[in-house]
Amino acid sequence: MRKRFIAFTLLFSSMLSGVSYATNEEIEVTPDIPAVYAASTQGKKAYVSQMEIYLDGEQVKPIAYLISVDAYGAYTYFKLRDLAYLMNGKDCQFSVDYDEETRQIITKSGEKYVPNGSEMKASSSGDQIAYQTDSQILLDGKKVEMEAYSINGNTYYKLRDMGEVFGFDVSYKDSSRQAIIRTPSYTGPDTPETSEPDTPETSEPDTPETSEPDGNSPSDIITPTPEPEPEPTPNKVDGKLTVLIDVGHGGTDPGAGGTAPYAFFTYQNRKVNAGGGIYETDFNLPVALCLRDLLEASGANVIMSAETDKTVTFSERKKIIESNANTADMLISIHHNAFNGNASGFDILAQIKYKNGGDGYELAQSFEKEYLEAGRKRHAPTTFREGSNGDYYAILRYAANVDLLAIISEYAYIDNANDVECILSNEGVEREAQAMHDAILDFYSTHEY
Ligand SMILES: [Zn+2]
Repeated sequence: MRKRFIAFTLLFSSMLSGVSYATNEEIEVTPDIPAVYAASTQGKKAYVSQMEIYLDGEQVKPIAYLISVDAYGAYTYFKLRDLAYLMNGKDCQFSVDYDEETRQIITKSGEKYVPNGSEMKASSSGDQIAYQTDSQILLDGKKVEMEAYSINGNTYYKLRDMGEVFGFDVSYKDSSRQAIIRTPSYTGPDTPETSEPDTPETSEPDTPETSEPDGNSPSDIITPTPEPEPEPTPNKVDGKLTVLIDVGHGGTDPGAGGTAPYAFFTYQNRKVNAGGGIYETDFNLPVALCLRDLLEASGANVIMSAETDKTVTFSERKKIIESNANTADMLISIHHNAFNGNASGFDILAQIKYKNGGDGYELAQSFEKEYLEAGRKRHAPTTFREGSNGDYYAILRYAANVDLLAIISEYAYIDNANDVECILSNEGVEREAQAMHDAILDFYSTHEY
């Protein structure tokens, strides 16, 4: 992903500098605005972010914009000065100064930030135009690499990038509607509502089906089981787990369609106006690529039905499934739903042979659990649909015919403006892929592969 971004950045910067060189002689450039901004009108739309931000358990309201960046879509960007302002007095506080002559932003770790009055407010309201900027930032005298955008003269960065540079932790919750910032010494809750830090990686295994309450006990009394459950080891895949990812639709088949609730760039950087069409293919491939990267990072082997936006026919999918049946442990088919514009939530479709339990049922449960934890709501219980010849859904049937465990995921309804919002950002897409990754590794922490 990073490589693609760099390629795009280089192209974009060279386009910008090309423009500025060509027009420098004709345009009078205001001295306090770098020429690259003044001479170019090729900014990007920066949408006011609706994300809730929590710093050490308390809600804070720095200025944030959603900017469409690369082939994968949009990220939320924050003002460096706002973060410096918010970190004042904490163990990772840092100062910010601007050197007019060298056009460098000078930051120093451990130093108190001196406000200049611009903090925590936008210089004008509503959506803005963002310009990619190459303004240099120095931390304790060393150059720091962070993608940056300039909006109304302020420099904005990704929260996670700033966290890495200045030493605070960033995570996203509730389908990216919430960003959680934690400083190193903070040990309290993520948000005022929760009483425990949100740590899905170390959460307890599901209550085993054999330890159901006896009917009298309140549900909060847990009967100890005779044998301790084996600890899930989601990050210790030995390399033999092989996941076949079937990327729904692509190429000439865009899949189910919906309308964009607001003007937006898709993950292929296609501009969509408010009310314009968005399709499954805008999401299926980005989620699949992200899932592939996450699984590979955890040591799993991944086979993809497609790694680019291309047409894959059902007979080709059947061949891919059949030729990988012996090496793959499971298949995940990635789709997004559409119905009547009002339906919302996720749907999991599983193989008919597991309708009364077993691997396919448990895998579906694992997905449901992770999607719920990602802030999604369930549209309907797991679907086990029988056709005239086994599974109703072709992909599930092809897999069942070669004894391959398979599941279809429909994470959101893209024809529902409220529901689709959870994936209209890179954070949302990454959250979806992360939930899939966690569901798969959770499942295989208690199943053989
Ligand atoms: Zn589909």
